[in-house]
Formats: sequence, C-alpha cells, structure tokens
Amino acid sequence: MTDHFLTRNQHAEPVCACGFRPGILGAAGEKPVGAQWKAKADVLNHVADVRNLPERKASPSDPFDVGADRAYPRAGVRKRADGKWILTLWDAPDIMHELDEASAVHTARYNAVCTGEMIIGSHRKTGTSLNGLVAA
Ligand SMILES: [Zn+2]
Repeated sequence: MTDHFLTRNQHAEPVCACGFRPGILGAAGEKPVGAQWKAKADVLNHVADVRNLPERKASPSDPFDVGADRAYPRAGVRKRADGKWILTLWDAPDIMHELDEASAVHTARYNAVCTGEMIIGSHRKTGTSLNGLVAA
C-alpha cells in the first residue's frame, strides 16, 4: 500500500500519491480560508481509510468478476501463496474446467499465460467448449 501517501502536486496542493485530490481543492481561483489545512486532513483520512481496508481474499473467480459480457471459454492466471502461477479455465462463469497439475501449475507466469492462450485459442477457433461441446 505504498501508493498512498501525502504529497503535493505541481500547484503545491496537498494530494495523495495515488491521484486522490480532496474535493475542497476543486474550485479554481480563490480558496476558502483553511482549504489547504482541510485538504491535508482529507488526504490523511483517505490514506488511513485505504490502509484500514480488510485484507482481500483471493477467489477462484477473481479475474472474471469485472463484467458479464465476457467470451467463453476463457482462462485466468494468478499467483498462489507459494509463489507459483496457477492457470484456471472456464467454460462459463460458473463452470470451471479441471486441469491436471502439470498444465495448471507453473513456476513462470509467462508459461501459464502461454498454456492458457494455446488451450483457449484452439477451442475458440474450433468453436468448442473445453469439454468438447459446441460453445454456446
Ligand atoms: Zn490514495
């Protein structure tokens, strides 16, 4: 969480390093008395809020929660706690495809991504699901 800390932008305004700029600084020109002080407090509150967020738990469906209009079959790669990269394949949002350990677990992220591209690419090209059925 080193992306969040109090700093100053090119206008010498107190802002967060992540780009957060307190709303009180929004108005151009004259600032109310104490705006700098209030903005600084807002940034520090923002930093405290971000740092106090609960630890996010990894979920098998993580890469696919971002939107509904995704093409399937698809693959996702993420890092496990042991530092290895795991490849996961889906036929549909809730249908995960079983992979053997040799295909699923990789020491290099690149290898996991390439394996996923190879499998998904060939299935998309032929229009079949990972289970060999015609893709919906
Ligand atoms: Zn921030």
